[in-house]
Amino acid sequence: MDLIKRFLNYVSYPTMSDENSDTCPSSEKQLALAKVLLKELKALGLEAKLDEYGYVYGFLKPNTKKIKERVGFIAHMDTSDAVSDTGIKPRELKYEGGDVVLGGTGDRPVVMKASDYPCLARYKGKNIIVTDGTTLLGGDDKAGVAEIVTALEQLIESGEKHGKISVCFTPDEEIGRGADHFDVRGFGADYAYTVDGGTLGEVEYENFNAASAKVVVRGISIHPGSAKNKMVNAASIACEFHNMLPKRQVPEKTEGYQGFFHLTGMSGGTEYAELSYIIRDHDKEKFEAKKQLMRELADKLNAKRGEGTVELIVKDSYYNMKDVLADKMYVVEKAEAAMRECGVEPVSVPIRGGTDGARISYMGLPCPNLCTGGENFHSRYEFVCADDMRKCVEIIKKLMIAK
Ligand SMILES: [Zn+2]
Repeated sequence: MDLIKRFLNYVSYPTMSDENSDTCPSSEKQLALAKVLLKELKALGLEAKLDEYGYVYGFLKPNTKKIKERVGFIAHMDTSDAVSDTGIKPRELKYEGGDVVLGGTGDRPVVMKASDYPCLARYKGKNIIVTDGTTLLGGDDKAGVAEIVTALEQLIESGEKHGKISVCFTPDEEIGRGADHFDVRGFGADYAYTVDGGTLGEVEYENFNAASAKVVVRGISIHPGSAKNKMVNAASIACEFHNMLPKRQVPEKTEGYQGFFHLTGMSGGTEYAELSYIIRDHDKEKFEAKKQLMRELADKLNAKRGEGTVELIVKDSYYNMKDVLADKMYVVEKAEAAMRECGVEPVSVPIRGGTDGARISYMGLPCPNLCTGGENFHSRYEFVCADDMRKCVEIIKKLMIAK
């Protein structure tokens, strides 16, 4: 089947994950796409299964004894809840430059402006697939899914020699649970790639080290008229804590490799106050130092206001996969070489977030992230480039036959 036809079929299935659900998959509708994929993998001749958590696994047996390496590819089936993914009306067009009118009505058109989305410039003369401006496209990550399945199909048709190939399509990546039930042992690969990136050429293998922190402040309330030397105001101690953090190390003032403390929530009054933070840094030492600084500030306030006034709870969320890949950089190098063979210049930028591949890497399977040829994810302005998607298939196929 043609790559684009396959992609358009996948995006016709709404698969939004649901953060408020405790089940896995978090939404029943992801299973509809999972079943389609299961059938397709079986039709291609793979040994395939859909497990109790909604993960689809497929295994292609080696057709030669010479290739010992076992490579895997992973993509996610769910879509972000940022914008609806129901009733997607994709449209392929040749981008001639300038603004793109996606939809809307005569007096209220939905326009993707070239000035707002400078990434458009690189697609001049290429075929792109856009939305009608009312939904997201679902290229994140159905472009990745379609590319992996198409690469398998083309590889099988070509009869080229390959080793064992494993693929997995996961649910619930967008709510941070995509790796929760991933079966590393059953997957049986030596290394793998998530195909969940953006612009053609991207190879991502550095992400944040991440933690969350909660600061709980306990105060003492008393009538303000007779409060002198008695009242301990939790809310104002919480402010004091926050004000002692480095002012410039916040998301809105940092980029590239710069880490931050991000105050994500605050609540409280005189008796009780709470601050919620996320802490991020690519560098392990700086990451540890950030958590240590928070501990020191809590100790400082406790020394001043009395033991037990401030309680700090820090929990690590995920780590930079670069530290796992340090002695397995051949996995990244293989991807870069495959891209160059396909005439694509690889680019690596540090991810200012996490990926399922990062968590899977820490589960023992090195797993950098590859491009899909999509842009503006989680948005009604999301689009994919059909030509770049075809290149991604070529790259994946190269990796499938890599010795
Ligand atoms: Zn994604």
